[in-house]
Amino acid sequence: MQKLVIASNNPGKLREFQGMLAPLGIEVLTQEQLGIAEAEEPHCTFIENALAKARHVSRISRLPALADDSGICVTALGGAPGVLSARYAGEPKSDTRNNQKLLHAMQGVTDRRAHYYCVLVLLHHADDPQPLIAEGEWHGEIAFELRGDGGFGYDPLFWMPHLNKTSAELGRDEKAQISHRAQALQVLLQRLRMAAV
Ligand code: IMP
Repeated sequence: MQKLVIASNNPGKLREFQGMLAPLGIEVLTQEQLGIAEAEEPHCTFIENALAKARHVSRISRLPALADDSGICVTALGGAPGVLSARYAGEPKSDTRNNQKLLHAMQGVTDRRAHYYCVLVLLHHADDPQPLIAEGEWHGEIAFELRGDGGFGYDPLFWMPHLNKTSAELGRDEKAQISHRAQALQVLLQRLRMAAV
């Protein structure tokens, strides 16, 4: 595999993927560069949505494609917001309203456990029956108030008791080492290296 299309238009994610795949000699193209519209994400699991995104891009580009899907799952809410994380408080998507809605849903709740989840899917071609799949989970708790101004999304509410910090209070490099996405990327890289041997 020499060329790979990333099924995402998020600049931060693209940078991370490019940085990690370049040492393997893989040229990374973006969905936007190829003029491919974003796929629908209609499913109720992360893996189904990631597969749908990767298949859409691979079918149109006729190249291998890598997609991710991620979100935050709160134990006391049965895993919600889950796949709806980006649009938990409805359209247009807003981190501020999402965080307010989550704080409201957690009022009076003592079990504050939550985790970020990320799944990566790499399809060698659109009809690949054996995609490479890698997952990452990052465990913490939902704070009682917003703290910190780094990161994005639910980071001001994602509190790590052992650090007494939210993920919005971590430096960018610190987060990039321990996040759900970083963990999934490490697993994917291992699988790719093994496949190349
Ligand atoms: P996507 O996979 O980029 O579509 O992310 C889905 C949504 O999950 C984001 O819009 C955020 O609300 C949430 N999310 C995923 N990863 C993170 C993270 O690292 N920090 C904060 N929120 C996240």
